[in-house]
Amino acid sequence: MLSVKEARQQMLNTIPVLPTETRGILNCTGYVLAEGLHAAENIPPFDNSAMDGYAVRAADVKDISKDNPAVLSVAEMIAAGYAPTKQVEAGQAARIMTGAMMPEGADAVVMQEVTEQEGNTVKIFESVEDSENVRFTGESVKEGTLVMGKGKHLRPPEISMLASLNCAEVSVHRKPTVAIVSTGDELTPLGESLEPGKIRDSNRYGLYAQVEEAGGIPIDMGIARDDEAETERIFRAALAEADALITSGGVSVGEHDIVKSVLEKLGKINFWRVAMKPGKPQAYGIADGKPIFGLPGNPVSSLVVFELFVRPALLKMAGHIDLLRPTFKATLAESVTNRDGRVNYMRAILRESDGQYTAETTGPQGSGILHSLVLANGLITVPAGVTLRAGETVDAQFLF
Ligand code: AMP
Ligand code: MG
Repeated sequence: MLSVKEARQQMLNTIPVLPTETRGILNCTGYVLAEGLHAAENIPPFDNSAMDGYAVRAADVKDISKDNPAVLSVAEMIAAGYAPTKQVEAGQAARIMTGAMMPEGADAVVMQEVTEQEGNTVKIFESVEDSENVRFTGESVKEGTLVMGKGKHLRPPEISMLASLNCAEVSVHRKPTVAIVSTGDELTPLGESLEPGKIRDSNRYGLYAQVEEAGGIPIDMGIARDDEAETERIFRAALAEADALITSGGVSVGEHDIVKSVLEKLGKINFWRVAMKPGKPQAYGIADGKPIFGLPGNPVSSLVVFELFVRPALLKMAGHIDLLRPTFKATLAESVTNRDGRVNYMRAILRESDGQYTAETTGPQGSGILHSLVLANGLITVPAGVTLRAGETVDAQFLF
């Protein structure tokens, strides 16, 4: 049996990164930059004032106080968006607004709160250092520097930065389209009454949401009955339409688990025995260059296997560099036992206090008990065949 780490690494090595496309920056939140971006302009593009106040020569406002102010003549008023028309000479100041261009001659700005203007003169009650309250050309970003590397995830600050650099469009990786198919004769779509022996199809909806949350574009392909021809037809249609295929159910050893034989027809599929619980067994392979993930049918297994395997794979397809959620140590609030020979990913409530995390499990942990995930905000990793006591630590990660 492979460890989660080994299986995941083997899988990730075969995952393709999707081609690039050019997108307008109002339509690329959540995308990943396909090439490094160098600044074509300085930010800010000119020296400007960081305050509403008076642009002065620092030398003119030395050794002054409340009782002994400097008195300067006001040469002009400079508003944001306009260029100064005069040079500030010795003994002069210019009224200046935040963001307005610094006039020649001035080297600092005195904030308005320590001044008093009367007619064309201004009293300055506090001195300033040379350069104080001035924002210099290129101090935020220097023209020519690498502002964002290839692989940068475009969040709101990056979009704002692109705009400030006059980049109207950028090259990003495509987001993966991901087809989702549930399998099983027992599955009933929402809205229909439950006949004896039938259950709701919940996995398709959960997987749909997980694909979206991972930055992919889900495509709902419905339910495939436990019939080989129908399953093959739906899987092929899904693969034709999407960059990746997720199937749910039918990959264990049950008599009606025809998903396995259909998957084998589609491409090179590995039926893995990954040493984890919940979630054994799973299938993974590539058909026509497209990843196929055969997830287990139990609802908790489906969600957890997606989290540990499919999510990083979709992130890689989209061009991300950081594929895994951070893990950290948490202190157990209760004792936990894993009698199994496989690592158990238990559903837990992780709480932070003074920089330390504690973990408490969410009750019954069966792989069909979806509520154990609804109550959880994270997973803890309990190694095979151990009992850990309250106060011992485990590896933990947040979910979703
Ligand atoms: P299977 O892997 O197909 O043997 O299914 C394992 C368990 O998961 C069975 O109890 C199924 O009824 C259940 N199951 C399979 N698919 C789904 C689904 N889409 N939604 C909810 N439960 C499912
Ligand atoms: Mg089934």
